[in-house]
Amino acid sequence: MKFTTIPHPQPTHDHAREAAIQDPGFGTVFTDHMVTIDYDEAKRGWHTATLGPREPIALDPAASVLHYAQEIFEGMKAYNHEDGGLCLFRPEENARRFNASARRMAMPEIPEDLFLEAVTRLVEKDAAWMPPIEGGSLYIRPFMFASEAFLGVRPARQYKFVVILVSSGNYFKKGVNPVKIWVSQDYVRAAPGGTGAAKTGGNYAASLVPQAEAIRHGCDQVVFLDAVEKKWVEELGGMNLFFIRRDGSVITPPLTGTILPGITRDTLIAMLREEGLEVREEPYSITQWREEAESGELLEVLACGTAAVVTPVGTVASPAGEFTIGTGGTGQMAAKMRERLVGLQHGRVEDRHGWVTRV
Ligand SMILES: *Cc1c(COP(=O)(O)O)cnc(C)c1O
Repeated sequence: MKFTTIPHPQPTHDHAREAAIQDPGFGTVFTDHMVTIDYDEAKRGWHTATLGPREPIALDPAASVLHYAQEIFEGMKAYNHEDGGLCLFRPEENARRFNASARRMAMPEIPEDLFLEAVTRLVEKDAAWMPPIEGGSLYIRPFMFASEAFLGVRPARQYKFVVILVSSGNYFKKGVNPVKIWVSQDYVRAAPGGTGAAKTGGNYAASLVPQAEAIRHGCDQVVFLDAVEKKWVEELGGMNLFFIRRDGSVITPPLTGTILPGITRDTLIAMLREEGLEVREEPYSITQWREEAESGELLEVLACGTAAVVTPVGTVASPAGEFTIGTGGTGQMAAKMRERLVGLQHGRVEDRHGWVTRV
């Protein structure tokens, strides 16, 4: 597909950009450009790919997304590569997962090549927004929503695919310190047959009240249990979990449709196996978690995702009380896996899997 480039009438001045990216935090320092591609079922399918200035999107008030939430997104990062230039980490997995989400939400798939081209062109265009700091990255947010003006309930026939970038530092303000998590008793994130495996905004909307509850209880994040028995540990609001045990085994909850199949999760499974650990994808209960933490069988718990990389879970809190994993600090495996993954992402560790793509 041909991309039309629209020049920015007023790009951010160098000094203003340089000041903004010194300590960008997460989620507010946007770059100058965006990509948009339109979809129309009746016409040409995907058409009119544009790389232009980042600007508001005009929507009809009846646009389906505003009423029935037909929306999906991805989260990925561009990193500074050791040898200069920028790189992406397993971006084709994001393209594939985006289309899996699209299928679940009755939305059209976008050719993987087109998804990757949109991301790559935008990263090249706004590469100067990469923060010059340790742990800095360009967070890439591709998303798609139903733009058709129609209030009937059926899959829309018009969509918009958009990519924006956020100049970002560390996701957690505290850096790599262990997180304290809150076990949600009253709320669930996803039920069997629901949309838990799709990266769709509604899952996040549903997690905000339990997340606020977690914050009220002095926790950083919420951990969700399964919707049926309220017994099995699923994941955090936006991160997958690994339980590292003294006997050399590692357990991570299986992908049964209620858990988001994290790309970091998949990467960690491979990395932990290379470490000689026996990684099993099997259910792990909240009771087992408490018992193994108290007996010392459980050495570490890792939370992982693109935004926060690998973060140790230090303490687990619920109305029944608290328990701590190990000493509540950052364990050996958390530190090792985090360093290796970050090293891979920046080209400092040999990439034996072909995970790194130069931009
Ligand atoms: C995106 C996401 C993750 C992490 O996926 P990565 O591909 O590792 O970034 C985990 N859980 C949920 C609910 C998510 O939305």
